[in-house]
Amino acid sequence: MIEPRVENVPAYATTAGDDAIDLARAGGVYLDDWQQRVLRQILGERPDDKWASSTVGLLVPRQNGKCVAEDDGVRCGEAATDVDHKRRGDDHRESNLQSLCGWHHARKTAKEASEARRPRPSARPPEAHPGLR
Ligand SMILES: [Zn+2]
Repeated sequence: MIEPRVENVPAYATTAGDDAIDLARAGGVYLDDWQQRVLRQILGERPDDKWASSTVGLLVPRQNGKCVAEDDGVRCGEAATDVDHKRRGDDHRESNLQSLCGWHHARKTAKEASEARRPRPSARPPEAHPGLR
């Protein structure tokens, strides 16, 4: 099983995930290993019987766990291990997220860093030299 490179799961004492997995199996739905892992995590419970996670975000399965980067119109298709922000910043809405393989994510991040270092074109027209007026 491929381990996610980015994962943030609060500590939990018990999980209702195994019950959910058993229920799915009883209904004829056999979950993949990664699906079982996610269910155990998102249904984690603290010792005070409250959910360990108040919010759950999961993007990779929506894109079939594949890297969506394209080179010359050909989709990469490698296993996605990273969640990327299409536009840099703090917009964590799903519309701004995509799954990438580590290689494509590193390449995109390096390109963005390179662009950020480039000097911005000046909006002000250059002044004539004072001696040439
Ligand atoms: Zn890729």
